[in-house]
Amino acid sequence: MSNLYTLNIEQVTNGIKNGEFTCEEYVSQLMERIKKIDNKINSFITINDNAIAEAQQIDKKIRSSSTVGSLAGIVVGVKDNISTAGLKTTCASKMLSDYIPPYDATVIKRLKDKDAIIIGKLNLDEFAMGSTTEWSHYGLTRNPWNLDYVCGGSSGGSAASIAAQLCTVSLGSDTGGSVRCPASFCSVIGFKPTYGLVSRYGLISYSNSLEQIGPIGKTVSDIRKIMEVISGKDTNDNTTIDTKNKNNNNNNYYDDNNDNKKYNQKIGLLKELINGADKPIYQCIYSAIDRFNEFGFTCEDSSLDSTEYALASYYTIAMAEASSNLARFDNIRYGFELNPDDYEWNTYFSKTRGNFGDEVKRRIIVGTFVLSSGYYGKYYLKAHRVRELIKSELKNLFKKYDLLISPTVPVLPFKIGEKIDDPLKMYLIDIATVLANLAGIPAISIPIGFENGLPIGLQIMADEFQEKKLLDAAELLEKSININSTYPDL
Ligand code: GLN
Repeated sequence: MSNLYTLNIEQVTNGIKNGEFTCEEYVSQLMERIKKIDNKINSFITINDNAIAEAQQIDKKIRSSSTVGSLAGIVVGVKDNISTAGLKTTCASKMLSDYIPPYDATVIKRLKDKDAIIIGKLNLDEFAMGSTTEWSHYGLTRNPWNLDYVCGGSSGGSAASIAAQLCTVSLGSDTGGSVRCPASFCSVIGFKPTYGLVSRYGLISYSNSLEQIGPIGKTVSDIRKIMEVISGKDTNDNTTIDTKNKNNNNNNYYDDNNDNKKYNQKIGLLKELINGADKPIYQCIYSAIDRFNEFGFTCEDSSLDSTEYALASYYTIAMAEASSNLARFDNIRYGFELNPDDYEWNTYFSKTRGNFGDEVKRRIIVGTFVLSSGYYGKYYLKAHRVRELIKSELKNLFKKYDLLISPTVPVLPFKIGEKIDDPLKMYLIDIATVLANLAGIPAISIPIGFENGLPIGLQIMADEFQEKKLLDAAELLEKSININSTYPDL
């Protein structure tokens, strides 16, 4: 069979189950496609050379009619800051260029337990700090829709590889929008779950109070299937939550019996963000709103007064946590490039810490500054107060609205190099996405249109643990717009 790379999870698992093709055939086709196409976009850092052998094992399991997992044969690409046993995990940094984790992240273990195949590790901004995937030690990732444009970030490889149809689904991490921004720029679906729904064990921390691992895929249905497997309590991550006790939908966040239509739900339109978006984005959002009205939702203007403080709060907290989380990279426990005995301590330390790229260094320095005595109250504590304010304003909005919508990113994908020398301009891209991380709530980006061949994404947010409501609404829109049947020519 040809063109297996176009299939979604259900089509792949059914195809394999019904004997239309083998797992080996599917994985081999994707491997060939990666070899042929990925040099154009550079979405992979490392390929798993064992993937075909693993596929053969799954075929063997199927032939011997032993039970296989629900994701048997699905090919998953993984952002290279999520630990994979035996497979290099670099965080797109020189610092970890030869680091091979001795263990799997919980999400990886759960996927493997369901017989999914990890095909390789995907490019990102170094340590997930960035919005375009230009800040990678392994070269930038290009937008599959137009190779001169950025693909978004920091999970750029995870989104570009789905748009280029190089894996069935991928995993990214979202600290301030890193799953949703590249999903929006690449016209695929990216989901950030409620904080605590997915284990962070094995995710190399950038800013632990903000980040969650989230799936990127071609359809909302694929997102549900991955969430079903990767979410839930993990004793290795104390911030994870036992979803069974938290759920108000018969213990099932992800089933696709779609009942939004009956809900008579209300959607709040975040005016500050929608009005501030580029014109084509604004127009696309209003046609999506028309669809929601047709479905029977009530859409109303709403306002989040603290929007203007969100970025300052986010970047202060993110950098503070980064400075502490990245302190462990001292070349003694990781790296091993230099022998400490050959150097005076300070020289040794600045040499090895010099292995970080400029943006990572900038964040460590700013983060250390906002945490230092004398400035702690002025910046770090204040940032936390703003975070609480944003949380409570959002909580209030969710008393009135089931869902909130905004652009995922207020600007269209832009040319490579355009913002790389101006970090402040780069940070502004995240204005709509950081809200969900500050508040710990779920948010999705779904494709709603194109302008001059460049993708546009809509962000939908819901209150914490309202993933079902969120995914149901996203799926209604997805089916009515039907954009995800379009893929770039590569
Ligand atoms: N662009 C944001 C940052 O650089 C978000 C990154 C992320 O979500 N990992 O912090």
